Amino acid sequence: MDLHLQQKVFIVTGGAKGIGAAISKTLAEEGASVVIAGRDKNDNQKMVDEIVLAKGKATSHTIELADPEACKELIQFTVDKFGRLDGLINNAGVNDGVSIEEGSPEAFMQSIVKNLSHIYNLTHYALPHLKTSKGVVINIGSKVAETGQGRTSGYAASKGGMNALTREWAAAFLPYGIRVNTVIPAEVWTPLYATWIKTFENPDAKLKEITSKIPFEQRFTTSEEIANMVVFLASDRSSHTTGQIIYVDGGYTHLDRSLT
Ligand code: NAP
Repeated sequence: MDLHLQQKVFIVTGGAKGIGAAISKTLAEEGASVVIAGRDKNDNQKMVDEIVLAKGKATSHTIELADPEACKELIQFTVDKFGRLDGLINNAGVNDGVSIEEGSPEAFMQSIVKNLSHIYNLTHYALPHLKTSKGVVINIGSKVAETGQGRTSGYAASKGGMNALTREWAAAFLPYGIRVNTVIPAEVWTPLYATWIKTFENPDAKLKEITSKIPFEQRFTTSEEIANMVVFLASDRSSHTTGQIIYVDGGYTHLDRSLT
């Protein structure tokens, strides 16, 4: 299936590592131009080099997404460089473990800034360009918004807010032909996951326990499996799909627990 992405330009936040890296590479494999937007210049450059070596089109922009002015600059950088913007992939986020018991009001607000505010800021500044291209917004959420995790209020609230904004913006953008969708991973092995699992007393045992409860094939979802869904949603092959929250999780969030 040709996804018709050859002339299109996408920003992928956190596009140098984990799920974001897979999204950047898959978009580039389909012929799109990719702007990798992350905070580490070397990580960004490594991903650009990898894509260019494989004959793809990519550039990078170093950004701390918590800074609203930097979000504005990222959109301007992209449009100055490519003359268009066809899609914003809001992937970057961090499960920062700000709990209700041990956290603080300040830490909670910081978590919202790290996980949710940049989604609004980037979409706000991207909107005029997405109107022109009839583009897409795709968010990467988390199952935590639906299931809770027990010790991560800021992250849960952010990802829940993201789900709400998916519906809100899908409705708001109907007149412009802009589609908005969210893809939800549950368990994907990435640098973020490797850091998170170490917060448990016995990470190996915890990992085994989680893996055994993933209904489909008792294995983690790969970053590429998330990326394939994102890239499909970014293409006009999904031209009547909007306002959807799609779980790519091997059935982890919704299937009957007695199965595992
Ligand atoms: P990851 O391995 O940490 O990669 C995320 C990338 O985004 C990193 O390069 C990170 O930079 C960058 N980034 C994060 N916050 C940033 C900021 N404020 N400014 C600039 N760059 C920033 O994460 P991942 O596991 O691939 O997760 C990607 C998305 O999937 C996240 O939204 C996460 O919540 C969601 N998710 C993941 C899983 C999973 O199982 N992995 C499950 C559910 C949801 P640094 O390396 O410098 O931090």
